[in-house]
Amino acid sequence: PIDSNKFNIVKNVQDVLFSVVKPIPFNSEIVLVAISHDVLVECLNLIPSVEESPVFIKFISGHQSPSFPPALAHRYGGHQFGYWSGQLGDGRAALLGTFINEDENGMELNLKGSGVTPYSRQGDGRSVLRSSVRVPTSRALSLVLSKDTVIRDEFYNGNMKAERGAMVVRIAPSWFRIGSLEILAFNEEIRQLKSLLDYLIEHHFRHINGDHKDRYLMLFDEIVNGTAHLISAWQSFGFTHGVCNTDNFSLLSITIDYGPFGFLEEYNLDFVPNTSDDEGRYSYTKQPSVGYYNLDKLRVALNPVLTYDQQETAKIILDGYYDIFNRSLLQRFTQKLGLSLPASAADAKLVAMFLSLMQQTRSDFTLSFRQLGETKLDDLLGGAIEHSQWALTRLKCHPKFDLFLDKYQMRLEEQGISDSDRRREMCKVNPVYVLRTWMAYNAIQRAEENDFSEVKKLQRVLSSPFNRQAEAENAGYSSTPPPWAPSIKVSCSS
Ligand code: AMP
Ligand code: MG
Ligand code: MG
Repeated sequence: PIDSNKFNIVKNVQDVLFSVVKPIPFNSEIVLVAISHDVLVECLNLIPSVEESPVFIKFISGHQSPSFPPALAHRYGGHQFGYWSGQLGDGRAALLGTFINEDENGMELNLKGSGVTPYSRQGDGRSVLRSSVRVPTSRALSLVLSKDTVIRDEFYNGNMKAERGAMVVRIAPSWFRIGSLEILAFNEEIRQLKSLLDYLIEHHFRHINGDHKDRYLMLFDEIVNGTAHLISAWQSFGFTHGVCNTDNFSLLSITIDYGPFGFLEEYNLDFVPNTSDDEGRYSYTKQPSVGYYNLDKLRVALNPVLTYDQQETAKIILDGYYDIFNRSLLQRFTQKLGLSLPASAADAKLVAMFLSLMQQTRSDFTLSFRQLGETKLDDLLGGAIEHSQWALTRLKCHPKFDLFLDKYQMRLEEQGISDSDRRREMCKVNPVYVLRTWMAYNAIQRAEENDFSEVKKLQRVLSSPFNRQAEAENAGYSSTPPPWAPSIKVSCSS
């Protein structure tokens, strides 16, 4: 169901999933900052030279052509920081269309920063550069920057400042979120709720029989599973989303809407990347329980389409969340130590011990695993660690590190894993580079001055995060972070 009256007028919208909007291009000239060739070629089957095409540049910067389908802003709600916020919706984004690629996968192209929509509330519908520079995840196609200005809080002092407007084309198989269903349930729009659920089953959960009486339960089961696995992946890479509101949680368990995110540097369970999150509601260590909370909100949103018995079953399905999460997390950490699956209780102890050493020495999360995977066990046991392996050097100061090494070696021997196999396997799953906030900050500072070289370098390096690369080493991407790194602040309002 689509609402097509009065484009772009901010209002309270009823009974629909989308509103037709007209993207509003910038007034001033734009420059192309970055493009992801992987997304272009692999997801959209376009040739890299398309970036020289004026039609393409117009498309990614919000110019509509009569031959395009109408752009749509999605109506959703959400629980933000524990409270129901009512109507939220795409306040500064528009769905440009779905591209069906050669593999017959649908890719939804979503333009962020495209101007006000009915869902903009007090916002201006724009994005700025610092909220738009992203690694080429599977979802960032392009980034353009204009000379149009947008007023925002400054990073450090809370003063208002003019920043340059930017637009990103993001792609995902679907942008529906938990809040997409919640708003329909809250407003008792049951016909729309069913229609969205049936759409999801038909297009994104095709193995569920769309006529089955328990289809919504099966869908819930899939989403509980998917969310548990997604969050275990986040935890294993130290990824901290920053704003885990239900409107930022994908129904397809894809990482979406991460604005003020961060990767763990020193292993600190209470790490909170988002300065707007005073209470640390969305700290690294709380993400698993936030996943449960959000799924519980999803469960409640499904109640109107479930019988009493099905509602009870949904509770049982949700009860299974932590088991799925814990199993998946243990598997991931076991592999991070180079041990083979299935993981045993002994592996769980070893993982816990390593994490506790890391926590007590405040050693770097990413590089502790990586450097352990790059160093021969004999060298570790003999104490001959190279100075460049700075995270390991720190771990080694812990009085129990040698005890850990003994146990680790015993377990590896039990499993018949040679040291070269261990190192090879560990380097496959433990990245050497992650997008650290200080790295992004540097790239953004330069890009504001029209120097996009650092953005491009990050893009190149982070497209192979498991391989050491000379240009990344020269840039210090795997060295100790600069002393000013912990003082950088990121917030929601960008
Ligand atoms: P977020 O938590 O960043 O995902 O944003 C929450 C809601 O606020 C979403 O509905 C956004 O579309 C909306 N929003 C954030 N920034 C703006 C803005 N500058 N203009 C309009 N809406 C915005
Ligand atoms: Mg959002
Ligand atoms: Mg956002």
